[in-house]
Amino acid sequence: MRVFNLSSGSDGNATYIETEHARILVDDGISCTETVKRLNLIGVSGEDIDAIILTHEHTDHMKGVDVFSKKFNTPIYAHNDVWKGVYPKLSKASEGNMRIFDGDFDIKDLIISPVEIPHDVKCFGFTIENGDSKVSLLTDLGHTTDKIFNSVKGSQLVYLEANHDIIMLKNCEKYPLSLRMRIAGKNGHLSNDASAEFAEKLVESGTRQLVLSHLSRENNTPELAYTYISKKLADDGIIEGTHVKIDVALTVPVRIFRLK
Ligand SMILES: [Zn+2]
Ligand SMILES: [Zn+2]
Repeated sequence: MRVFNLSSGSDGNATYIETEHARILVDDGISCTETVKRLNLIGVSGEDIDAIILTHEHTDHMKGVDVFSKKFNTPIYAHNDVWKGVYPKLSKASEGNMRIFDGDFDIKDLIISPVEIPHDVKCFGFTIENGDSKVSLLTDLGHTTDKIFNSVKGSQLVYLEANHDIIMLKNCEKYPLSLRMRIAGKNGHLSNDASAEFAEKLVESGTRQLVLSHLSRENNTPELAYTYISKKLADDGIIEGTHVKIDVALTVPVRIFRLK
């Protein structure tokens, strides 16, 4: 399995996942043109994509989907409950490419298991398996639950939201109070603190690679998320580089993660 971050954060989210037979995108929150340009960096073209799996309706997760699907005749998969918000935002994609799931489903040699996550609209995280390889993606969640943990535990690689530093968010003058409250709320986004707490459980369950993702442009920095979470883990004896590798998914592609 190969995993490649095309973009992550407030400006758009898209993740490419590939096995011997399947090539998918989870979300496509950047323009179609930009998506293709970034896929080309690793020798993949738009026609190669078997499916786009959507987490939820927010624009930073589906900006490029409509045009991409129309241009490359790509099936779009979303949960039954997510389609209600997604459907009105699609005008170009053909109805025949709109696929509904409400439980586990396969795309070629991938098994995809959705788990509902708490956000201010219906939203899903995913565990994606191929043989012994297991990858999970969890972004846009206000808090974590035992159900989410049970779904993703044992994943070798987890994309985990580390959206904001709580103090930066509290003091953010660019955001009105209502927005700051939404982000920090139970159905908003995961803070560095909450991310660190969940990361620790993941490492104990066998996760060896964490990719901190969906960082806020205003209220976090890659350096802060990395150092804050690494330190929190170190306080409990989990050493970055020894027990787990931590990377940060940026707004631009940086590196490919490979699982055997
Ligand atoms: Zn969202
Ligand atoms: Zn988002």
